[in-house]
Amino acid sequence: MQCPECQSTHVNKNGFNKGKQNYICVDCRRQFLDCYQAQRGYSDELKHECLTMYVNGMGLRAIGRVKGISHVTIINWIKQVGELLPSAYEPETIPQVGELDELETFVGSKKTKFGSGQW
Ligand SMILES: [Zn+2]
Repeated sequence: MQCPECQSTHVNKNGFNKGKQNYICVDCRRQFLDCYQAQRGYSDELKHECLTMYVNGMGLRAIGRVKGISHVTIINWIKQVGELLPSAYEPETIPQVGELDELETFVGSKKTKFGSGQW
């Protein structure tokens, strides 16, 4: 286990949060869940750049090539941001239809979710 903030391995368990193991970094006091592991190695800045390119219409594979990261990673970021800020990043303009099955599945399920409750 490693702190996502300062990369220290000096962390303690800190109870459970929403059913997940919660950790606290002894060095910087940052609290985090073990699911943060998956995001290690990418800065918020890089994430923001990729998402900015995405909402400006760039294809996911193109962004991945430019930044040297997996387009699957970018999809995961889009999903995360989409959950946090559904209105700001509502994917009305998917770059290229058929670019990625996973993304289409995500957008489809989201539309269904929005559509069933409010219309
Ligand atoms: Zn830390």
